[in-house]
Amino acid sequence: MSACWRGSWKWRSTYRMTKPLNAKHALVTGGGSGIGAAIAARLAALGARVTLVGRSAEKITAMAAELGAPARAHVCDITDEAAVSALFASLGPVDILVNNAGAAQSAPFHKTGDDLWRTMMAVNLDGPFYCARAALPAMRKAGWGRIITVASTAGITGYAYVAAYCAAKHGVVGMTRALALETARDGITANCLCPGYTQTDLVAETIDNIVAKTGRTPEEAYQELAKTNPQGRLVQPGEVAAAAAWLCLPGSDAITGQAIAIAGGEVL
Ligand code: NAD
Repeated sequence: MSACWRGSWKWRSTYRMTKPLNAKHALVTGGGSGIGAAIAARLAALGARVTLVGRSAEKITAMAAELGAPARAHVCDITDEAAVSALFASLGPVDILVNNAGAAQSAPFHKTGDDLWRTMMAVNLDGPFYCARAALPAMRKAGWGRIITVASTAGITGYAYVAAYCAAKHGVVGMTRALALETARDGITANCLCPGYTQTDLVAETIDNIVAKTGRTPEEAYQELAKTNPQGRLVQPGEVAAAAAWLCLPGSDAITGQAIAIAGGEVL
């Protein structure tokens, strides 16, 4: 065995260990903030070429700059099927799709109007469907793909005052289970990550709502949310990102069709 060969093997092995997603193109929707930004940073750190997609150019462009080349930012509303199709056609193959963009609006069931219902379905269910459908042909051709959808514990259990959000998140879990079976022999896995309350802007809005509607202080509102988690805290975006990375790394091939709770034991 020559020293040169040993050196090259060692280099390649170390390289693979530190940048195991080196040849992969990852697209993260809603990647400019919160959980999506944390996932994008994690995948980029593992070597993936990350494309950030969002409605606001400002947030995704800033995040792409933070990640540095070769990260890119593309404005696209995932609820617009034509825009999603055009985006995927322009980008070329996507190996890792992270369906993260989403929104949560609350209302008592009897006050849930058609607009709120449609808005929740459009962003939390239609959008992930459009993106997964657009990403799939290239994944099948490559014989490898990861479709990771950030659902919610609201995709596994019910909560009062968020019927539309719960219905959409349950829907995306169902979509993922069916997709996992249809792609099981194609080298593709499809899974949902189901965080409990996570410390992002989305939860900051929930805290503001509780303060406005109940007169509680922000700290009391925070504690109200934190106590839903048996660990007595909010989940951190980096914890969801770690699970997303795990699903992309070697050794995760047998994990498909799952709704993985990241919620400190809130749902069992
Ligand atoms: P966030 O508001 O920081 O991120 C959501 C992102 O989605 C934003 O960047 C927003 O611009 C983008 N987005 C919204 N609608 C879009 C559209 N139509 N097209 C493109 N982009 C769009 O909130 P977050 O907490 O990071 O949420 C990320 C995901 O995590 C969502 O799917 C949410 O439902 C889910 N989730 C969040 C929590 C939580 O407590 N924060 C808990 C469970 C699940």
